[in-house]
Amino acid sequence: MLGEIIDGKEIAQEIRAEMKSEVQKLKQQGSIPHLTVVLIGDDPASMSYVRGKKKASEETGISSEIIYLPQTVSEKELLQTIDKLNKDHHVHGILVQLPLPDHIDEQRVIEAIEPSKDVDGFHPINIGKMMTGEDTFLPCTPYGIITLLKRKNITIEGKHAVIVGRSNIVGKPVGQLLLNENATVTYCHSRTIGLTSYTQSADILVVAIGREHAISKEDIKPGAVVIDVGINRMENGKLTGDVDFAETQKKASYITPVPRGVGPMTITMLLKNTIKACAGLDHI
Ligand code: NAP
Repeated sequence: MLGEIIDGKEIAQEIRAEMKSEVQKLKQQGSIPHLTVVLIGDDPASMSYVRGKKKASEETGISSEIIYLPQTVSEKELLQTIDKLNKDHHVHGILVQLPLPDHIDEQRVIEAIEPSKDVDGFHPINIGKMMTGEDTFLPCTPYGIITLLKRKNITIEGKHAVIVGRSNIVGKPVGQLLLNENATVTYCHSRTIGLTSYTQSADILVVAIGREHAISKEDIKPGAVVIDVGINRMENGKLTGDVDFAETQKKASYITPVPRGVGPMTITMLLKNTIKACAGLDHI
């Protein structure tokens, strides 16, 4: 039997519809959630992500703006821009689109954003709060993954979750969130010896490495829940994941496709964080 597809696009649409009424309520109380995105340079992929964030914000009733800075902007100028946004009471969420040009220290920029406006959830204070289980802004992709599992009523507690990939924005935080939900978590990465022995023992397998079809049917346990975070562009121009979907679906109980899986949830959780930044923590 084929594993059930976790339709991220459909779930994202449901959540966005719920958020619309949330935003309406805030507007009636006199607050309009506002997201400012800072984009440096003109990388086509970054420009497309940023436009997607603005469009999704507007569809939900969140006001948003994009600040375009040239590729040559100095770190000092960027930090000054962030400082202004930190002090601007109309701005609830600040997102600096990554990656940054090589001459700018990414970590310094992340740390310059006021933690209460850090809707990407990358500031060390927010990461620390996530680790201790305090209410905070969760990083959007991992938050989206947990939300998908919960919306599909997939049991996390007591399950063995294996994460392939340990980046700061996906792998590490998704493992932490699964641990917070009482999973037993194993992290794998490029130096892991005998990767398959770990992936085959996963009840929940999250793959976030950025390598087309690195995981297939023989790498998973029968009935595993497979979450594919990877986005890879194939030679024919189409997008595909880190998991060979067609083959792996034959053995999985649930599986996310690419596209229409984790991707649509990432922007959705950014909007959720922006509403939360406007309404105050503990609100959602
Ligand atoms: P990243 O920073 O490049 O990290 C990749 C991770 O994969 C690293 O930890 C690396 O290990 C590990 N890795 C690489 N090759 C491996 C292998 N052969 N076996 C085991 N582990 C391996 O990537 P990222 O930012 O986490 O993104 C991962 C993928 O998710 C990319 O395709 C990206 O486009 C996609 N993504 C999607 C979304 C979304 O919204 N759907 C959001 C973010 C990212 P080391 O640490 O040892 O180098």
